[in-house]
Amino acid sequence: MKQLLGWGTEFDQIDGHIATTLEGGHTHARVAHAHGDETGRIIAEVLIREIRENPKIKIIENFYVIDLLTNDDNECIGIIGQDNRGRQIIWSANTILATGGAGQLYRETTNPEVATGDGIAMAYRAGAVLQDLEFMQFHPTTLYIAGASRALITETLRGEGAVLFRRSTLRQRIFCKKIPAYFRVVRKFRHRRQQGLDSCPPKCTLYDWRRKD
Ligand SMILES: Cc1cc2nc3c(=O)[nH]c(=O)nc-3n(C[C@H](O)[C@H](O)[C@H](O)COP(=O)(O)OP(=O)(O)OC[C@H]3O[C@@H](n4cnc5c(N)ncnc54)[C@H](O)[C@@H]3O)c2cc1C
Repeated sequence: MKQLLGWGTEFDQIDGHIATTLEGGHTHARVAHAHGDETGRIIAEVLIREIRENPKIKIIENFYVIDLLTNDDNECIGIIGQDNRGRQIIWSANTILATGGAGQLYRETTNPEVATGDGIAMAYRAGAVLQDLEFMQFHPTTLYIAGASRALITETLRGEGAVLFRRSTLRQRIFCKKIPAYFRVVRKFRHRRQQGLDSCPPKCTLYDWRRKD
């Protein structure tokens, strides 16, 4: 955070302090935001500017990495990739993969289209040991409309006081507890489906973002 602030990231503030909010399962408000709901764009712009201004960093854009290259000792010595000029090899002393997650392996996901797990797969092919693959974050609150993208309904809504209701009656809350963690929400949906209470969990829920106070 200090580094991001030092680079000029304009996090929202209240009375000279960074404004924070809660997410599901949190007991302390520790989610910062910038320009309201534009946090991701603001941080990305700051990082991109810093990278562009750093003369030691050479940027190659729109380049798709296909595989890692290894030598006889199984050390990574570069990558093979492709852009609109064709296949290219880039040799390197050190290689860091930052290719994101694998949420697109699932039919229903709020993850971006690029989260295909291809970087994880190429690391595996090169002989890397993978770990913690079982940790996959699912947001339980999603806009669920047939044919539409699964847009995420931000967890900070619950942190700000929004509550989940059954569709049948706006008086019947799904949770009494204030802001249960993601996994508790998912478990409750699954339990209701197993009990035959809802054919499709998301359809049984509505967000009410009127503040409770
Ligand atoms: C809807 C949504 C809301 C979120 N909100 C928040 C939030 O409020 N706060 C928060 O902290 N986090 C949030 N997150 C999580 C956060 O966005 C991710 O944790 C973070 O972006 C992961 O960063 P990353 O660099 O690991 O991967 P990514 O941001 O996914 O970046 C990976 C990059 O690698 C590129 N790539 C992949 N494969 C290749 C290849 N073969 N060759 C070349 N390039 C490749 C991709 O195109 C992509 O640009 C949110 C996520 C989602 C989906």
